[in-house]
Amino acid sequence: MKKLVVTGAAGFLGANLCARLLRDGHTVVGVDNFSTGLPENLEQILTHPRFSLIKHDITKPLDLVADVIMNLACPASPRWYQADPIQTIKTSFLGTLNLLELAKKTGAIFFQASTSEVYGSPQVHPQTEDYWGNVNPIGIRSCYDEGKRAAESLCFDFHRVYGTHVKVVRIFNTYGPLMGVTDGRVVSTFVAQALLGEPLTMFGSGQQTRSFCFIDDLVEGMCRVVWSSADITGPLNLGNPYEVTLLELAQKILQLTESSSKIIFKPLPLDDPPQRCPDITKMRALLGWQPSVSLEEGLLKTIAYLKRELEKTGARQAVVKSDFFKQGDL
Ligand code: NAD
Repeated sequence: MKKLVVTGAAGFLGANLCARLLRDGHTVVGVDNFSTGLPENLEQILTHPRFSLIKHDITKPLDLVADVIMNLACPASPRWYQADPIQTIKTSFLGTLNLLELAKKTGAIFFQASTSEVYGSPQVHPQTEDYWGNVNPIGIRSCYDEGKRAAESLCFDFHRVYGTHVKVVRIFNTYGPLMGVTDGRVVSTFVAQALLGEPLTMFGSGQQTRSFCFIDDLVEGMCRVVWSSADITGPLNLGNPYEVTLLELAQKILQLTESSSKIIFKPLPLDDPPQRCPDITKMRALLGWQPSVSLEEGLLKTIAYLKRELEKTGARQAVVKSDFFKQGDL
């Protein structure tokens, strides 16, 4: 059994990952500055004897000893990462640098949660890991996209220069329990709008495609990568290659929530990619991984979670008061 540091532990992916690592028998130190993550996401594991939590901003150096450092800290939803773009790029660059320095000093394995956003608005479809991407370096998404690209670059330079044992995964859209109800991501937004009987806001024609990976499948993929042999550094795509248009997604959510909400159309946000779909041939071949949860099954679990969240006192008002209905994105 190993000791792991998980940064971004209170976020959607981090909290699900920490729970899985503890179930597998490991010791986990969660690190988070709670900028977008919530301590409530860790409710189930906060008192676990093998879990501890540190409030820390990874843009500042960290001193801890562990076998593995898994860096998930970074706001992932455009609404959140665009709220403070300079902090976002600092988190990706300085945060990753600080943690790589720690991995170099302690000999820990370093795992980086990168993103499909490194492909930008892709001109290759589906996206393979050897595609270099098509990113606007000065647009409103660049604090995140370029930050994550620079972080990948740091990982591979530490690997080449110091022999640091790195593993980089490029995560595609993921959904499931513990998603923030007001995070502005398309699944949580559509589900909440459908459950509240509000119109579903579709940006653009709805013909743009995305592929959605259920959280349990993603966490399984992350675990396979982290425990893989040292020669597997990545980058490796992690996502579900089942592609749907956003219109199909909206219609599926309306059907599963039995909602009579209408769909309303708004202009497409800047730099919104028209297509996004992972090629997961490498993950299949190297680690035998592929998603197993269907979109319908995953959506039913997510709907049940978000329904409970919306029933909590004040949650409905918080959602309605937020800029939730005015914005939306992926
Ligand atoms: P999230 O916003 O729910 O979680 C991010 C967590 O990081 C939050 O708990 C936040 O408080 C914490 N954090 C942010 N800046 C920090 C800092 N400077 N120091 C310490 N903690 C900080 O996002 P998520 O969906 O859980 O994403 C986790 C990681 O996975 C991110 O790195 C993201 O880029 C990557 N990712 C996620 C998706 C997805 O679909 N969810 C897709 C691609 C990549």
